[in-house]
Order: sequence, then C-alpha cells, then structure tokens
Amino acid sequence: MKHIIDKSFDFCYGHRVHNQRLNTKFTESGNACLACRHLHGHQGKIKIFLEETVTGVNIQKTGMVTDFKHLGWMKNFVDDILDHKFIMDLQDPLFKSEFPILSPDDLMEMPQGYFIPSLQRVKNWCENTGIKGKEANAIFEKYEGAVFVDFVPTSENLAGWLLQIAIKKMQPLKNVKVCAVEYWETPKSHCRVEA
Ligand code: ZN
Repeated sequence: MKHIIDKSFDFCYGHRVHNQRLNTKFTESGNACLACRHLHGHQGKIKIFLEETVTGVNIQKTGMVTDFKHLGWMKNFVDDILDHKFIMDLQDPLFKSEFPILSPDDLMEMPQGYFIPSLQRVKNWCENTGIKGKEANAIFEKYEGAVFVDFVPTSENLAGWLLQIAIKKMQPLKNVKVCAVEYWETPKSHCRVEA
C-alpha cells in the first residue's frame, strides 16, 4: 500500500506560445488561427503530488505522508512569482519589441530558473527619457509584471519546470518525494508530468 497526497494552487497568468503550429486536419472546423500566439491569459491550476518512498514509515509515525503545510513554500512561490504575471520565453521574437528597455544584462536570474527585469533600470530609463507620472508608472508596472523563462511557456513546459523546482525543494524531507505535477491551463486542458 502506497500513500500519495496532493495539494493544489490557483493563479492567473498571461503568456503566448510563439511557436504554435496546427494541423488543420484535426482542428475544429479546420480552424487555422494560431490563437495561442496571441498575448492572452489563463486561470491556471497546479497540483503537486507527494508520495512516501519508504512505505508506511511516516504513516506509522504521524499518520501522514508529510504535513500539507510543507507545501506552503509553493503557495508563496505561486503567489509571489507567477500570479498575475506575464510569462514570456526569452527567445520569443516579441521580446525586444515588448520590452525594448531591457538587454540580457538587465535580467536577474533567480535560483528557481526564471528571470526578472531590473526595475531600477526601468526607473532610470523613464527618468532619462523624461517620461513621468502615469505613463512612467504604467511602464514600470508592465516590467514589474513580467517573468521570463528560457522555454516556451506551454502547460507541459511549465509543469515540468515546477516539478523540477518542487523536487529540489522537497529533497531534504525524509521518506517523501515529489512524484508528479498536474497542470490545468483551463478547466478542460490538463497535463500531467511524472518524475
Ligand atoms: Zn494559453
């Protein structure tokens, strides 16, 4: 008997899939519109699965695989890093036109493998170009709301990335491992990636 627990996290995000291709033989009414290339948003959901690696040991001690609260860090990560952010591939051809202030040197790589812009650089740019007030605020907010990754932010890739983050983070917990992540881009579009 093996116990597996899971916990879900909801968030809103924007993205675009700049490499979308379709075979219209399989699309609804032969629709050829590459809508996933549009800038758009989703109500996303992720579910992290934890399994016991030594059957029964933790259950005998505590009645738990591990405490659900041990995934509290993931709620922080989702809320702080992903929620209400636009997730963009660094290789996206729109990168330069959407974020013209930035060069690669203006991005800070974070330990979990994502990149955020230097907001000081954005402030400086606004000051140097004489942009003030609401317009400067709006530009700042656009950059503040961006998260960059080095992959196309499809459900599958985002799920795989989150799985790697969770595996690394949970590794010190005894007799427990992250075995899968499930990801919903919409309530009807789901993927599962297993460790
Ligand atoms: Zn999408």
